[in-house]
Amino acid sequence: MNAHQTILEADYAVIGLGAMGASILHRLARSGGKVVGIDKYNPPHRHGASHGGHKVTREAVAEGPAYLRFVQRSNELLCELERRYNVELMQRIGTLIIGSEVATSSDSFLHATVQLAQANEIEHQVLSSKDLKRLYPQLTGVTDGEAGYFEPRAGSIRPEPLLSLQIALAKQAGAEILINTAVTRITSFAGGVQIEADGLRLRAGQVAVAAGRWTDHLFNGRFADILSVTQQRTFTFKALDTLAYLPDRFPALMWFREGVGGECATVFPLERSGDGVKFFVADTEADMRGSMSGNQFYHHHIQPYFGGISRDLLHSEICAYTSTPDKGFLLDWHPDIPGLFLVSACSGHGFKHALGIGETIAALFVGNSIPDLSAFSLKQSEGRPSR
Ligand SMILES: Cc1cc2nc3c(=O)[nH]c(=O)nc-3n(C[C@H](O)[C@H](O)[C@H](O)COP(=O)(O)OP(=O)(O)OC[C@H]3O[C@@H](n4cnc5c(N)ncnc54)[C@H](O)[C@@H]3O)c2cc1C
Repeated sequence: MNAHQTILEADYAVIGLGAMGASILHRLARSGGKVVGIDKYNPPHRHGASHGGHKVTREAVAEGPAYLRFVQRSNELLCELERRYNVELMQRIGTLIIGSEVATSSDSFLHATVQLAQANEIEHQVLSSKDLKRLYPQLTGVTDGEAGYFEPRAGSIRPEPLLSLQIALAKQAGAEILINTAVTRITSFAGGVQIEADGLRLRAGQVAVAAGRWTDHLFNGRFADILSVTQQRTFTFKALDTLAYLPDRFPALMWFREGVGGECATVFPLERSGDGVKFFVADTEADMRGSMSGNQFYHHHIQPYFGGISRDLLHSEICAYTSTPDKGFLLDWHPDIPGLFLVSACSGHGFKHALGIGETIAALFVGNSIPDLSAFSLKQSEGRPSR
């Protein structure tokens, strides 16, 4: 052992303090045990997935009923944090989903959303193509064959303040936070899990790994078949018609557009009139075999669909998807290291569930009852077909 190595002991540790890790840390810190949180950067930061100013949330999660309890609990916990600390962590501007009126495989998302909302009495409105054209004239590409789902109590979560608040609260509750500390090795010992980082050795009874796109790297490719990482890019353009894109006229939007094979454009309104409108279409970076230019994105994804947006690209940002083959979540114990729990809840739709997941994993560690997680097990991830 290195003579200058710091040796720490804890009941619980969390590796990675993005959306998932920060939520787990915050909940564990309230448990009374000794808790350590470790991150290789200083979160919130721009290197992982939990940044970018906005993340869409919706209660009717078309990804499947197994996700519903996480998002519903996350919404409750978010409201609790906002009330208790007098902060705004979410823009409640509603979420609008547009897709083909007739269900086909590429746009069944809209139909699955409506069905889930109906089955679970989630407040929503179904909009015809005529309604969409009247209510959102800035969506110039809406066709007669499209319909919409509007969820008024949904909208956009603010990732950076949420992460900062949870990490600060964990610290206040006694958690030790180690930033700019990269974990290099995780092994088991008789009493739990041993973590090695630069100049540090930490032994903890139970450990959650929420390392996002670096998860597989931490285990030397052990989960390469299950976790794949893709670079994603967002584009923020100047609005010419600023009024049309302010939050009172424009909700958080997911539009599965017919003209481009059902590809979804996610769009966020302006914060203030001087800001830009942020657009995201999954895998555009890969489509262009390199860095898609703002001009190409504008021609393909904006000009045919959105009025009142200038060609001026104000900002473009990279973010990483960590996806399982069927775009589900992985929440399970490591098969070979007792006490080590894997949290890879991303696949492009994890943020809205993070608070509920954090609470569940913390409850699991302290021995409280938790909902069945078998839908997110390693075995399920291995066996599920690609989507
Ligand atoms: C472009 C884009 C748009 C998205 N939009 C939405 C949306 O609208 N709605 C939604 O619900 N979800 C959305 N998502 C998904 C959501 O952002 C992710 O599910 C979520 O942020 C994942 O959080 P995480 O904590 O798992 O990973 P990350 O945020 O990547 O955090 C991982 C952390 O681990 C740390 N780390 C890694 N390796 C080590 C190590 N060796 N030692 C110490 N620390 C380490 C990193 O520094 C990082 O802080 C989107 C994702 C992207 C990329």
